Amino acid sequence: MNCIFCKIASKEIQSRIVYENERAMAFYDINPQSPIHILIIPKKHYENLFEVVDKEDSDAILDCIKRVVETLGIKHYRLVSNAGKGAGQEVFHLHLHFLAGKVFSAKTV
Ligand code: 5GP
Ligand code: ZN
Repeated sequence: MNCIFCKIASKEIQSRIVYENERAMAFYDINPQSPIHILIIPKKHYENLFEVVDKEDSDAILDCIKRVVETLGIKHYRLVSNAGKGAGQEVFHLHLHFLAGKVFSAKTV
């Protein structure tokens, strides 16, 4: 499968990794939309949150979020996951956008 995030997960393509565990990883987005913009992915290929995720994979994703917060000393953050073309998904490998480093408005979009 020609999936860019699978290649990032297998390290075939380089990324700036913030944290990784056995099943998930967090790395900086190549085109940041906020001062801190990190992507959190399961290493296993799932298209998006519509697909069933093994509990071990969802736990690994949650561990990544926690460790990113701890490692970078984050005080507040926003998590976004685009599921489907209509939601703006461009890379069809499940990922969470971890956005921080600024004050966000109370409106989500
Ligand atoms: P989506 O629109 O699918 O929710 O978000 C895809 C994200 O992946 C975008 O924010 C885009 O900048 C990021 N991205 C695409 N290709 C690469 C890449 O090769 N490396 C990294 N680090 N980020 C990427
Ligand atoms: Zn993939």
